[in-house]
Order: sequence, then C-alpha cells, then structure tokens
Amino acid sequence: MRNVDNSSIVTELQNIFKRYSSEDSFVLNDVSLSVKESEVVALLGPSGSGKSTLLHITGLIDSPTEGKIIFENKTVEKLSDDEKTFLRLRKIGFVFQYHHLLQEFSALENVMLPMLITRRKKKEVQEKAEHLLKMFGLQDKINMFPSELSGGQKQRVAIARAMVNDPVLLLADEPTGNLDPETAQSVFDDMLQIMKTNNMSAIVATHNYDIAKKMHRQCSIEDGKLIEK
Ligand code: ADP
Ligand code: MG
Repeated sequence: MRNVDNSSIVTELQNIFKRYSSEDSFVLNDVSLSVKESEVVALLGPSGSGKSTLLHITGLIDSPTEGKIIFENKTVEKLSDDEKTFLRLRKIGFVFQYHHLLQEFSALENVMLPMLITRRKKKEVQEKAEHLLKMFGLQDKINMFPSELSGGQKQRVAIARAMVNDPVLLLADEPTGNLDPETAQSVFDDMLQIMKTNNMSAIVATHNYDIAKKMHRQCSIEDGKLIEK
C-alpha cells in the first residue's frame, strides 16, 4: 500500500479508559490512537482483548469510562445527541463479523437503506448502490436476496452498505472472520481497494496476520494497552 503522508487526522482517542459496570478491571487502560485521512489500521489481539470495545467507542456506539474522543477536530463529548447521530450516520461506516443484512430485501435494497435515510433522491441512491456492488463484483447479484448469496457475497454486500454514505472512517470488526481464508483474502482485497479509491480511513479488527500485514499500521491490545507493532 502507498504510504500515508502527514495529512489531517480523522479521529483521535486520547487516554481512553473503559470498564464495564459489571467488571472490576479495565478493558481499555489508557489507550490513545489517532488515525489519519486514508490510513488503514489493523487491530490485532486475542478474543476478549477489547477490540470490539475499542471500535464501539471509536464509532460513538459506546462511551468510554474516561478519556476524550476527537472526531474531525471536534470533541465528541461536547456534541449534542443529534450531532453524534449525524456523525454515526454520515461520517462513520460499521461492518460487523456477522453481515446483519435484512432478509426480506434484495442486495441492492440493503445497500441503499442507509442512504435513503439521508433523504437523497432515489435514483441517485440506486446508482450509487449499484456502482458499489459492481466494484465488489456483484453486478449479477443485485436483485438477489441474502438467502441466495454465499457467505463471502453477503459480507461484500454488508461492506458496500457501510460505504454507501461515503464515510470518512470505516470501522470493521473482524469483517471476514466467518469466511474461509481464501474468501476472506479476496473480500478483504476488494474492501482495501475501494477504501483506497475513496480515501477512506479505517480500523479493521482481525485475527488474521496475513490480512493485517496489508494495512498501513498494525496495533494490538494487550492487557488493556494499545501496542504499535
Ligand atoms: P474482543 O472484541 O477483542 O473479543 P471485547 O471488546 O468484545 O473483546 O471484550 C473485551 C472484554 O470486555 C471481555 O472480557 C468481555 O467479556 C468484556 N465485555 C465486552 N462487552 C461487555 C459488556 N457489554 N458488559 C460487560 N463486559 C463486557
Ligand atoms: Mg470482538
């Protein structure tokens, strides 16, 4: 991958601590991380180390116990709920390990949904969704339902859906974790290529070191601390 220059920082976590109320210990213990425009960061670490927790906090789905998040130069804590919702919907894309596609909607409709909420024109939304599905090699599958697609195809649709609003930051939580290694590589290569074309930044949690090596930076969470590899 090309190197990232010293361009602007998209999101910054400063001294984040996270403890779940039911637990005694800190899952995240003074974690700081900044991600630049177009930068793709791999997040490694064994199951239970806090990868999902870190992604949820970065994606404004969960709040830290302590610490500051700065998203596009704005301190998140100072934003209203509406402003945070705007960021979650328009600026951040989330991909989960399980695709969470809606079974009664076609691939195309699933990808269109997040963009329809933004009240764009239906034609524009459809063109954008078709374009993304084409980039993922799914031009022949756009009218199929999730039950008619393979695991890799479903995950490609879920990634396209996360990208349809042109997020500046994509957060992917073991997005290829349910796929066989070969399919995982090819889905991941497509995702990386499309992120690059769109100058998207990303944090990608993965167990797969071969996949992590393809990203700009590799970090892992060990005993609540973020370690740069
Ligand atoms: P990973 O994604 O690396 O597998 P998680 O972030 O899911 O790790 O979990 C980190 C730790 O936090 C685990 O010990 C897990 O049990 C705990 N944890 C995660 N979510 C919650 C929750 N909602 N309530 C209590 N503990 C949680
Ligand atoms: Mg997880």
